[in-house]
Amino acid sequence: MTNIVILGAGYAGLAAAVQLAVRTRRDDTVRVTLVNAGDRFTERLRLPLTATGQEVADLRIPDLLAGTGARFAPGWVTSVDLAARTVTLDERKIKFDLLVYALGSVADTAAVPGADEHAYTLNSFDDASVLADRLAGATSVVIGGTGPTGVESAAEIASRHPHLTVTLAGRHEPGATMHPKARAHLRAALDRLGVRTVRAEIRKVLPDGVQLDEETVPADLFLWAGGTRVSPLAAAMTTDDRGRIVTDPALRSVSHPFVYAVGDAAAIRQPYGIMHGTCQGGMPTGVHAALSILRELAGKQPRPFRFGYYHTPVSLGRRDGVVQFTHGDDSPRRFYLTGRLAARYKEFVTASPWPTYRRMKKMPASGAFWPHGKRS
Ligand SMILES: Cc1cc2nc3c(=O)[nH]c(=O)nc-3n(C[C@H](O)[C@H](O)[C@H](O)COP(=O)(O)OP(=O)(O)OC[C@H]3O[C@@H](n4cnc5c(N)ncnc54)[C@H](O)[C@@H]3O)c2cc1C
Repeated sequence: MTNIVILGAGYAGLAAAVQLAVRTRRDDTVRVTLVNAGDRFTERLRLPLTATGQEVADLRIPDLLAGTGARFAPGWVTSVDLAARTVTLDERKIKFDLLVYALGSVADTAAVPGADEHAYTLNSFDDASVLADRLAGATSVVIGGTGPTGVESAAEIASRHPHLTVTLAGRHEPGATMHPKARAHLRAALDRLGVRTVRAEIRKVLPDGVQLDEETVPADLFLWAGGTRVSPLAAAMTTDDRGRIVTDPALRSVSHPFVYAVGDAAAIRQPYGIMHGTCQGGMPTGVHAALSILRELAGKQPRPFRFGYYHTPVSLGRRDGVVQFTHGDDSPRRFYLTGRLAARYKEFVTASPWPTYRRMKKMPASGAFWPHGKRS
């Protein structure tokens, strides 16, 4: 019996689990177990909606795994013993022969003094729900971080709570990596929604405000969307300067090749550099790890992973957005969408993982599925 344990049922881990379980469902020498903190699938892309009191689908991991043959083990992973090949899950241990490490990332509240104590985050459905409750009684909010998560959160909050004073603060101009016209659209949308944008370093989070370079902005709430960190469990392997597991081209840990690392938790090198954490790149890494394990089980060498970005879709409330199409290295192309079409595109992208997993479940045991038609 080969025990394959997948840690983390986010976009990447779930893709790995479904692909592996479906492809091995007729093989009773392989057991696939998916471990996750809870049984709710966190649609992280929809957390700004949850944070503003909008209803989102209640997706359950066991429902998705139904029929694949994969086992689900709910619980919090507290340690990974690579010598004994065991994972400790709350009080119990699970043995593995091969591990897929997909524990993702959370907002790095250690990056700014005071954020640990005073910042709200969008790490989970529960965190976003707490923020929704607090926003209902607030008069001002600062969002830290001008990347897509910060921009989407600011736009969603401003459009659902027009009475709130909303400030978006961060080191870079919002939409900094976009085509100038796409960036101008994004900027105009934030202005229209009444979001004040400030280009500044966030120095300190206080109980009632935020210290920036040259001013202190009073705020009832501070949402941190300015960067992520990964679980310290990764430190049992070779990691990069951000604590992510360094992989070989086939996505195996360079120090422990019986561990595949995928999604946000992995430092995956491509010709253009190390991939940054996205759902866009995370799901293909999960699928690739599964296919590599299948090749290993068949006595073949796993193939190198190749990935190129193709878009950056950003919602600006429910009826507006910007989609920047990109080159493989994530640099902007000339093409972009704005307005309602962009909002619909973003919604299509956000909704696509769940039907994708469902379609994977229907693939034959001998076929590999990937939504863009790639086969390996
Ligand atoms: C608000 C927001 C909006 C975003 N929007 C976009 C977007 O539009 N497009 C895009 O491409 N990307 C977006 N991202 C980034 C994207 O969500 C991540 O890159 C993606 O979720 C990474 O997937 P993952 O499977 O690696 O990890 P995750 O989705 O983080 O999943 C990790 C899983 O592991 C579980 N876990 C963690 N630690 C433990 C433990 N110790 N024990 C048990 N379980 C554990 C977690 O509960 C979680 O279920 C967004 C992120 C956020 C926060």
